[in-house]
Amino acid sequence: MEKLELRYRQVDSSLVKRLKQMPGGEAVGRCYQCGTCTASCVVNAMLDNFNPRRVIRMAVLGMREVLESVEPWYCAVCYMCTERCPRNVKPVSVLMAVKNLSAIEGKVPQAFRNINENIARIGRLFEIDDFTNFMREDMGLPPIEPSDAEEVAKLISGTEFERVVKGEAENE
Ligand code: SF4
Ligand code: SF4
Repeated sequence: MEKLELRYRQVDSSLVKRLKQMPGGEAVGRCYQCGTCTASCVVNAMLDNFNPRRVIRMAVLGMREVLESVEPWYCAVCYMCTERCPRNVKPVSVLMAVKNLSAIEGKVPQAFRNINENIARIGRLFEIDDFTNFMREDMGLPPIEPSDAEEVAKLISGTEFERVVKGEAENE
């Protein structure tokens, strides 16, 4: 796992305050770094560089790198951490709040912006190609029909989704 250096001058004390004001981030300050969330995490079991305890620590310390990091975005939202956290921090919700703050500041990592772009364009995370439908047929499953791009565009036009996809910060 990459070692992170904490530089006093780069610490942003307002970060944790903002997180606490966001839905899901209210209890971030209660974390006492026991690591139960990470030990329970299904993604951490497969991916060394995803560690919910560390994400929370970075946020509490005011390390703004957390807003640009891909780490919070690896969460599979399985809620295991939240079931087991002894301090009722609701780690999954804190990660959600970090991601929301990242979107508000226009800092969603490029890989996840690409995924959002697909949702805005085709209403799905990725294109369904002939091969996928061929595999489904082989398994006795019906083909997946193309999504209604016009309907998707209509739904998205009434939201802030496009701004997030383009990575435009709230106050730009
Ligand atoms: S389980 Fe809860 S208290 Fe323990 S490190 Fe995770 S968030 Fe913090
Ligand atoms: S909700 Fe996310 S952080 Fe929590 S255990 Fe599941 S994958 Fe890990």
